[in-house]
Amino acid sequence: MAEEAILSVKNISKCFGDLEVLKGISFDIHKGEKIAILGPSGSGKSTILRCINQLETYDRGEIDYMGKPVNSGHALHELRQHIGMVFQRFNVFTHMSVLQNVIEAPVHVKKVSKQEAVVQAKELLKMVGLEGREDAMAKNLSGGQQQRVAIARAMAMNPEVILFDEPTSALDPELVGEVLNVIRKVAAEGVSMVIVTHEMNFARDISDRIIFMDKGVIAVEGTPEEVFDSSNERMKEFLGKFND
Ligand code: ADP
Ligand code: MG
Repeated sequence: MAEEAILSVKNISKCFGDLEVLKGISFDIHKGEKIAILGPSGSGKSTILRCINQLETYDRGEIDYMGKPVNSGHALHELRQHIGMVFQRFNVFTHMSVLQNVIEAPVHVKKVSKQEAVVQAKELLKMVGLEGREDAMAKNLSGGQQQRVAIARAMAMNPEVILFDEPTSALDPELVGEVLNVIRKVAAEGVSMVIVTHEMNFARDISDRIIFMDKGVIAVEGTPEEVFDSSNERMKEFLGKFND
């Protein structure tokens, strides 16, 4: 691709004690691109996302955001404005209202005026289907609604990239669909996304490229068609678990 990558993950390796959990991970993310990361539990998916967002250090390799290393070329608070993250759970401040959750970072980190932040937050809450719920306390919402607040919060910083780490794994099955639909809307906004998920149909629909991680390496990478039709044994075994 001619255009420079927004994020470039170059040969990242990481050990926890004696355990090497990342063994030379490399991939690029271009503007607007959606990448899904699949793989069994323990394969290093969360760790690579956490390395990108500087929540975790790494032993070898380099991660560049806009051509500069994330761990030295950018101030951490600025990096976090550009790279949002949505976790499995514990994303929202339960003691705050829905609106307070969404305006908190724009007002306190980005120094946007409260008035402006509220206008944007209301638009985002509409997008995630929580119009009219601005004053509800986050702790009184369902898991799916809380996760939609978390997505609105991430979007409120106008990030270039959002990293999603199994955003629906902690939800009751009947709440998964509403959150996936909101992520589809976010995707349509043009933000770049990396999504770790076990929702195979969703990954296939939403992504431009899929990465299959196994035991700390990228075992398969390609378009959704290439990856789902892969002859890689571990990939086939993994996908088999979702077909019965
Ligand atoms: P995944 O998200 O693919 O399930 P993780 O990236 O969470 O995998 O973890 C990869 C491996 O690293 C696992 O074996 C996990 O137990 C280990 N691990 C993750 N975080 C830590 C940590 N803070 N300390 C020690 N081991 C860890
Ligand atoms: Mg994980």
